[in-house]
Amino acid sequence: MFKLISVILIVKGVFSLVGCAKLPLNETKFFPNYDNVDYGPEMAGGYLEGDILPDTTRNGLPELKWPGNTVKYVFCGDFTAEQKKSVRQCHRMLSNRTCLRFVETTKSDFGYVCITNEPNGCWSALGYRGTKSQNMNLGPGCLRNVYIICHEFIHALGFSHEHNSYNRDDYVRIRFGNIIDGMKYGFTKRVNSKDCRVHFNKASIMAYGPHAFSKNGFETITPRDGVYTGMGQRRRIPESDFRKINRMYCYNNCTSTLNTKAPKIIKLSS
Ligand SMILES: [Zn+2]
Repeated sequence: MFKLISVILIVKGVFSLVGCAKLPLNETKFFPNYDNVDYGPEMAGGYLEGDILPDTTRNGLPELKWPGNTVKYVFCGDFTAEQKKSVRQCHRMLSNRTCLRFVETTKSDFGYVCITNEPNGCWSALGYRGTKSQNMNLGPGCLRNVYIICHEFIHALGFSHEHNSYNRDDYVRIRFGNIIDGMKYGFTKRVNSKDCRVHFNKASIMAYGPHAFSKNGFETITPRDGVYTGMGQRRRIPESDFRKINRMYCYNNCTSTLNTKAPKIIKLSS
């Protein structure tokens, strides 16, 4: 009897976690054409995150920079004045610390982010696509946190997640055995990625929390130094994120760190 109750509780636990992230049943069917999509606005609260990366990517992609350091955008969906204000607030936060410009345009233009607000989460195409328009969705939950909006715009600028960095293994241990089947590709390490010579930062606004896409409640990303502070946070943009953006866009010198070893690594007993 006790065993049965335990099983029921575990199953319920797994479902409530999945429920938090609003995981679509078939994410490739859901988002067939994007290099990088995010969904699940609850990531800000430290819940299971909704970020997926079909067949991508590197951490920094200088070849997908926006021309003229200018990101053009159109509100393609019905946004309230308050929601538009939040989007522009993110733009200000990014442009105040970088050489980037965000310019609202119209659908007759070419090469802009078409921002929709469908209720299926937060996601964005990765980098400048060179097409008439490219998509970003900011569902109602995403719009409540300006840092989630910025997370998506940083994807649109051409940055993937922190844990996809080629040197991430020096800083975190990915526990593939705990990751939901079908989501493991989101944890792919790209050996040819560029970190713009900025150290891996677990507290990057582009980093996942320790339980991202866990299928069993156990950790999927474990920091090698045992410090969890800031992992998966969506409350601030750390200095290191601005430095990366500036090196890619403003100084045109986003290259890779040659010595990929972290300064100090404390081995965890597993
Ligand atoms: Zn993301």
